[in-house]
Amino acid sequence: MAMLNILHYPDSRLRRIAEPVATIDKSIQKLAEDMLDTMYEAPGVGLAAPQVNVTKQIIVIDITEDKSNPLIFINPEIIDRQGSAENEEGCLSIPNIFETVTRAEEITVRYLNQYGKSQELHAKNLLATCIQHEIDHLSGKLFIDYLSKLKVSRIRKKIEKQHSRAI
Ligand SMILES: [Zn+2]
Repeated sequence: MAMLNILHYPDSRLRRIAEPVATIDKSIQKLAEDMLDTMYEAPGVGLAAPQVNVTKQIIVIDITEDKSNPLIFINPEIIDRQGSAENEEGCLSIPNIFETVTRAEEITVRYLNQYGKSQELHAKNLLATCIQHEIDHLSGKLFIDYLSKLKVSRIRKKIEKQHSRAI
């Protein structure tokens, strides 16, 4: 079990664009497992490779409370979106901040699993929200990008305060 270091906003490395994975080998499988361990330890329900300073298109998700359904998505692509839903979101890279974001209510995602097999998954509710949030990380997008400038500046101030308290 290996824990990876999670980058925190406003670290500019969170804004880098992730590359598709060309070959799924042992190192990719190990990375995905380490990402799951890191996500469970945090604890969180999703983690994208750019959050652990790896610019590859890999995300991991488990929305169950007993860690019983770890999902690994490599080179994920949303191929269908339906409806819209508001949900409160947080992010392991933006600790202690929770805000409402509007996203598609249901999605279909196409991806490779950890063995390189092409899969499609239809997701709704929390899982759909989580997949969309994590896929955004692959293009350097954060959930606070959906908020108003005023809200973002309040969040930045709150984060600066948290940092000064930690020192
Ligand atoms: Zn996030």
